[in-house]
Amino acid sequence: MPIPELNAILTQKVEVAPGLGIFSVKPIGWELPDFKPGQFTVVGLPPSAKRFEYSDPEATELPQDKLIKRAYSIASGSIEKDHLEFYVRLVHSGGLTPRLFAMKNGDRLWLSPKITGMFTLDKVPADKNIIFFSTGTGIAPYMSMLRSSVIVTEQRNYAVVHGAMNSWDLGYRSELLTIERICPNFKYFPIISNPEKEPMAWDGPVGFVQRIWDKKLIQKKWDMEITPENTHIFLCGNPNMIEAMVLGLGTDGFIEQTRKRPGAIHLERFW
Ligand SMILES: Cc1cc2nc3c(=O)[nH]c(=O)nc-3n(C[C@H](O)[C@H](O)[C@H](O)COP(=O)(O)OP(=O)(O)OC[C@H]3O[C@@H](n4cnc5c(N)ncnc54)[C@H](O)[C@@H]3O)c2cc1C
Repeated sequence: MPIPELNAILTQKVEVAPGLGIFSVKPIGWELPDFKPGQFTVVGLPPSAKRFEYSDPEATELPQDKLIKRAYSIASGSIEKDHLEFYVRLVHSGGLTPRLFAMKNGDRLWLSPKITGMFTLDKVPADKNIIFFSTGTGIAPYMSMLRSSVIVTEQRNYAVVHGAMNSWDLGYRSELLTIERICPNFKYFPIISNPEKEPMAWDGPVGFVQRIWDKKLIQKKWDMEITPENTHIFLCGNPNMIEAMVLGLGTDGFIEQTRKRPGAIHLERFW
């Protein structure tokens, strides 16, 4: 089968930090379908696309007649109809991301017209508080959720916990700080694991995101007991974080939501 037409264009690439980028992609000649915040779509490039100069060489030879395709959570709000935004980490040895990072504004790529996924707010009753835990680019689906509704008018509490190695890897930090300033029902907990490298002393929490839960920092900020009856918890990003969090939350009575069983933990593994 021939490689499908590259049906979208890169309109903006913003480097958050080395190897971390925000990509805006606009369809050409077709309309984006409606989607729910938290869902993902698929992006593709041909194997002939150039690799980023600071990535590793290709480990294996790729079939030349197939697009390299990968899933990406949408970071833009569902009300945005012009383009989709993705927050992507460069995997130096990877198939697609070294090609994505070599792209320039105006270059073409393939964007799936299908948007899908169960990692949405659909199963969260309107009176439950929500905590979003993420590492690295796992913040992307939460940005879409926060950008798609006016949370300040809601009665419930929201919290975002975002873990990264260093402060400069905390993508969307200024937007999240602004939401925190505007919305009294929103709290932002950035946490870094490598404070020694910070040029200015880091006075926030240090370690992995699990620490925010273990130390009951959200409970203290919200001034209430957090239970599976009053709060739903979202986990997205590194599978090791997700496993550790599911284990810790399990001892506090939280169980995972599945197709067959209701629960207060919702999760999305990136790999
Ligand atoms: C539902 C879903 C949503 C996703 N959303 C995002 C997203 O919003 N942003 C994003 O950057 N990635 C996301 N991913 C991961 C993405 O699909 C690719 O796996 C990733 O970009 C690597 O692609 P690659 O071809 O360069 O590497 P591959 O050749 O596919 O190598 C895969 C390996 O790269 C590593 N890896 C994959 N993703 C990451 C990551 N984000 N951070 C660090 N290491 C990683 C893992 O070790 C994995 O085994 C998502 C995956 C799924 C299943």
